[in-house]
Amino acid sequence: MGFIITIDGWSACGKSTLAKALAKKLGYAYIDSGAMYRAITLYFLRNHVDWTEAKEVKQALKDITIEFHFNDKTQQSEIYLNGENIEYVIRDLVIAEKVSDVAAIKEVRTFAVAQQQKLGVKKGIVMDGRDIGTTVFPSAELKIFMVADERVRVERRFKELFEKNPNITIEEIKTNVELRDYIDSHREVSPLRKADDAIELDNTNLTEKEQLDFALQLLKKLV
Ligand code: C5P
Repeated sequence: MGFIITIDGWSACGKSTLAKALAKKLGYAYIDSGAMYRAITLYFLRNHVDWTEAKEVKQALKDITIEFHFNDKTQQSEIYLNGENIEYVIRDLVIAEKVSDVAAIKEVRTFAVAQQQKLGVKKGIVMDGRDIGTTVFPSAELKIFMVADERVRVERRFKELFEKNPNITIEEIKTNVELRDYIDSHREVSPLRKADDAIELDNTNLTEKEQLDFALQLLKKLV
């Protein structure tokens, strides 16, 4: 049946890189919970939903279906919004600039968390996000909380986004990362925080392999 592994932490810490590597190594499913909040934000922006109005939010959520499908070509699980593959569209800074406001809405979180919990019913899953170890799967067998120096996080995210958009500046990324971290850790519902039983992983100076080894060592202690 496998375990539930949660990876939470600050923006651009490399959570998804570690989560994907772990899932691949263990043959587990990988779910990017942040992609769900990004998908909802994309829907709200495209459909001009006024998310300060609870009624509009509730109505809009009824029209949203989110699914994950594994892509054999990219060997990755990709997100679909109402049948459309939006895996790449949602990485845009336009979405990143609004997603934390949308993710702070109670109705949005209730909607996303219910789906995340369903995806974990069969276990054998790695899920990354901000509240996975605290709210979504408080009884997960392994919880990792990732941190890294802000400078390193901003540089990593800049490299990633610059490949697709050479007009992007490092200042824009820094502002976005700082703002999201602030909103995510100060919101009323499920703010970003380390679960009491989560293990902190500072990856400022670690390679991807070193992080994976660290997580695999933690897993070994469970079996
Ligand atoms: O992980 P990613 O950067 O794609 O997440 C985008 C945003 O979604 C975060 O900045 C946060 O506002 C929100 N989020 C959340 N809870 C999660 C995952 C993401 O609030 N579990």
